Amino acid sequence: MLAASAHIVIAGAGQAGGRAAEALRARGFQGGITMLGEEAHPPYERPQLSKDMLGTADKPVTFIKQARDWSSVLDVRLETGAPVADCDADRRTVTTADGRVFGFDRLLIATGTRPRRLDGLEGRGPKVQYLRNVEDALRFRKSIRDKSRIVIVGGGVIGLEAACAAAKHGCRTTVIENEPQLLARALPSLVSDIVADRHRSHGVDFIFGTTVTGATAGGVQLGNGAEIPADLILVGIGVEPVATVAERLGLLATAGIAVDACGRTAVPDVFCAGDAALQWSRCHGRDIRVETWANAQNQAIAVAGNMLGEQKDYVDPPWFWTDQYDLNIQVAGDMCDSDHIVRGEPASGRFSVIAMRGADLVGALSVNAAKDMAMLRRLLAANKRPARTDLESPAFDLRAALK
Ligand SMILES: Cc1cc2nc3c(=O)[nH]c(=O)nc-3n(C[C@H](O)[C@H](O)[C@H](O)COP(=O)(O)OP(=O)(O)OC[C@H]3O[C@@H](n4cnc5c(N)ncnc54)[C@H](O)[C@@H]3O)c2cc1C
Repeated sequence: MLAASAHIVIAGAGQAGGRAAEALRARGFQGGITMLGEEAHPPYERPQLSKDMLGTADKPVTFIKQARDWSSVLDVRLETGAPVADCDADRRTVTTADGRVFGFDRLLIATGTRPRRLDGLEGRGPKVQYLRNVEDALRFRKSIRDKSRIVIVGGGVIGLEAACAAAKHGCRTTVIENEPQLLARALPSLVSDIVADRHRSHGVDFIFGTTVTGATAGGVQLGNGAEIPADLILVGIGVEPVATVAERLGLLATAGIAVDACGRTAVPDVFCAGDAALQWSRCHGRDIRVETWANAQNQAIAVAGNMLGEQKDYVDPPWFWTDQYDLNIQVAGDMCDSDHIVRGEPASGRFSVIAMRGADLVGALSVNAAKDMAMLRRLLAANKRPARTDLESPAFDLRAALK
């Protein structure tokens, strides 16, 4: 255990930063903890921004803890509106943008990601919005309540959840997706098609295979020459790691901040967790950034333990969910470059898809089949290799494969 005289600094007061601070105290660390966050708010979880907060009721944001409770309950010094602007590995200090210097014995980088920008749209006509923080969600909620005509750039999770909310508010909504299908990185076309049909039945239009190239006075210009009328463009084309702190430490972080299975970076006593971390994924067979709620929580908790001296590898397979109208879709591991076994009847609206690479189970997906997914996640986590013939048999009980 790290000495009670030690001081831990957490750069980034988002979900991973907040969960790590809680875990440090839960594991009995009695030293100082300072959490420095760029946003004006205490840590909160982001899934509510594209779900509950975009409903018809005025739902306020829910924080992991109220600002005062970080100090009074956990003895954590939380500084909001305090982005870390510099970091010195030799002196073991971080400096905030307003010039305050904080010493550390261990540093956790939990600076997350920021939306990838689509430049050249601002100022020509429709408003341009992104969806990453509380302010973005409140702005977008106002726009959909105003029944704006909305063009959403990007048919990924964020774009599609935004489309659900817009459609429920009666907005004329068009999603522009460069790929020939929705959620191309995560879903097989069988499931993408179901999602697209569900959206269409709620009035959402899709244009595939092209992108937005510019804005006009009354809408957007597409690469295929078409023009779509719009009052608002919501851009949801993925995220990129926020690596200011890592770069100050000399870490190359274009694809993410590389960590080992304990969350250690290449700089001694500097760790990283959450969206910004570039970590090994057995399912993918390569290093990836895992941009999910579950990773922001569980990796942060595991890395907090390792900062105190535990040596426990964090190897949970990636997992996320998305809600699209009445469809609850969950994805674990990697669904790309693999053979797929469908269990259940897609037409029934409740089924799962298992991804195999050779004899290896590498991914799973469920549509309104959370119980199957719970079992499949356990199989993936335990690195089980159930026989393909068993998985193909509708009568096979997945629980048997765990034994
Ligand atoms: C709208 C939305 C909906 C989502 N829905 C789902 C979902 O349904 N299911 C799912 O699995 N995942 C979902 N996610 C993803 C999930 O929320 C993220 O994976 C998670 O928030 C990552 O946590 P994090 O702490 O790593 O990063 P963040 O939550 O981004 O926190 C990082 C924090 O660090 C701050 N920061 C950045 N630079 C600095 C600096 N230099 N100094 C100090 N602070 C800094 C940032 O301002 C931010 O507050 C969603 C994300 C969004 C945006």
